Amino acid sequence: VLSVKNLHVAFGSVEAVHGLSFDIHRGETLALVGESGSGKSATALSILRLIEREGGRITEGSIRLATSQDPDTTVDLASLAPAALRKIRGDRIAMVFQEPMTSLNPVMTIGAQLGETLMLHRGLRGRAAREAARAALARVRIPEPERRLDQYPHELSGGLRQRVMIAMALVCEPDVLIADEPTTALDVTTQAEILELIEGLQRKLGMAVLFITHDLGVVSEIADRVLVLKDGDLIEEGRKSDLFAAPQSDYARELLAATP
Ligand code: ATP
Ligand code: MG
Repeated sequence: VLSVKNLHVAFGSVEAVHGLSFDIHRGETLALVGESGSGKSATALSILRLIEREGGRITEGSIRLATSQDPDTTVDLASLAPAALRKIRGDRIAMVFQEPMTSLNPVMTIGAQLGETLMLHRGLRGRAAREAARAALARVRIPEPERRLDQYPHELSGGLRQRVMIAMALVCEPDVLIADEPTTALDVTTQAEILELIEGLQRKLGMAVLFITHDLGVVSEIADRVLVLKDGDLIEEGRKSDLFAAPQSDYARELLAATP
């Protein structure tokens, strides 16, 4: 469904990603693993074409997406016009960020924020939007969804806020979900609940998930395939079972040895 070829990303004269290629298929979870600064977020932001906002630039490469609405043709996200790009972003590709407070508006209720997304992408307003927002919160197993609609982000725990972010990302039933360290800021129990939630929703919706993490423990829980990134280079790629049983590179062996 998503195909990245020879992606190069630069911040000024510094190249953060040097020629990365990979494919993600429908219903698959691909984990992108690497230490801090290895280029994981730069890759994610490039796919959504948000990298320019961070001061970066895609200098080379193609990012092609086949949507469920038109599976036989692919669109090149790297050269899509802004209006068409905005439609695909959030609609066919959604992203969940590490810290939900930076993506939620602190002075707007949860219901109003979900309502905005629902109006933008599904044309819903009024009662229909409120009911869809309630259903979206129920889908991510937020207790008392009706009451949450009228609450502000600070009234929710970190785990619940992350669930709201997932609900918001899934409002349009995207083809691809990019999750950039979505559980790093959470305690272990909440982290496990969120991972289980993403897995369950993925099975139900059949979307492809690009799961970004530096934690191989998380990878062992959730991934089908794994990409190991180091300083912007793809070091290793393979099935999760192969990586854990028989890592091919010294670097992957080191990472595994360092994981409890
Ligand atoms: P982390 O695990 O810490 O989130 P990451 O793998 O997501 O790390 P990136 O954020 O993709 O790493 O950064 C890749 C490289 O690009 C790093 O060397 C980083 O210093 C550089 N970089 C990232 N953002 C910027 C920026 N806005 N301006 C300049 N350089 C940047
Ligand atoms: Mg990052």
